Amino acid sequence: MVIRELLQFVIEEFKNGGIENAIFEAHLLVRGVLCKSSLDIVLCKEDDVPKEKENVIMEGVRRRLKHEPLQYILGSQEFMSLSFKVTPDVLIPRADTEVLVEHIISKYVNQGMLALDIGTGSGCIGISLAVYNKNAYVRGLDISEKALCVARENAKMHLVHDRVSFELCDVLKDSIWGRYDVIVSNPPYIETDAILSLGKNVKDFEPVLALDGGADGLKFYRRIISAAPKLLNDSGILAFEVGHTQAQKVAQMMDESFDNIEFVKDLCGIERVVCGVKKPGHIYRLT
Ligand code: GLN
Repeated sequence: MVIRELLQFVIEEFKNGGIENAIFEAHLLVRGVLCKSSLDIVLCKEDDVPKEKENVIMEGVRRRLKHEPLQYILGSQEFMSLSFKVTPDVLIPRADTEVLVEHIISKYVNQGMLALDIGTGSGCIGISLAVYNKNAYVRGLDISEKALCVARENAKMHLVHDRVSFELCDVLKDSIWGRYDVIVSNPPYIETDAILSLGKNVKDFEPVLALDGGADGLKFYRRIISAAPKLLNDSGILAFEVGHTQAQKVAQMMDESFDNIEFVKDLCGIERVVCGVKKPGHIYRLT
């Protein structure tokens, strides 16, 4: 089969299987497996596809029709214009999260930072901070050793492993140490009961550990907000990604220890990022 025929076949399969954006996903799958750019695909559309590559694409089609996300099939996702390895042990990096990373980068344009990324998953947040700020040093924490392995590979791939380190930590139970300029987190924030109502591609394939935020979806915010003041330097910032109904609730929780609370909207106009500056002279509770 030549590339054009194979692409047409995949598009038809995806359309018949009810995959939204069938054309776009078919291109991503074929391009991903053949390691070609969109321009290559156009220029080489009459080239033969090697049989073993065709088999890989067919297997990808079968998996996608069972609703497995394309990112797990291809093993990668782009985030902040960087390619990240992803496996079913990590949440797939989302475009919404880029808003969080861009917000922090914009605050530290001409200065370095010591950052803590809580619930780092693939490492996409911490690694992007280090790639785009050459004076950023980042520590990433996660409860999953398998996720940390993926994050470490990603740090090496982007040549920031000398400035980014990852450690196993159950943020709800373990004590967290260090002093940072920035604490950033995109914690699990889905209400436990709402997980079943998520799309099949999310609830059946993405790690529940990365999704479940407890009965009200806020348990990680509560814990991180109470631990943050003692971990932050003066004028240090705490920046969260939040679920679509959580911005005001999280801001209220931050009110006691944080000033200058800002909200940043995602591409759909939803308040997606909540960020605050540690109040000066704040006396912290024991956590
Ligand atoms: N920090 C990672 C991300 O933003 C993982 C988030 C999570 O597992 N909740 O993709």
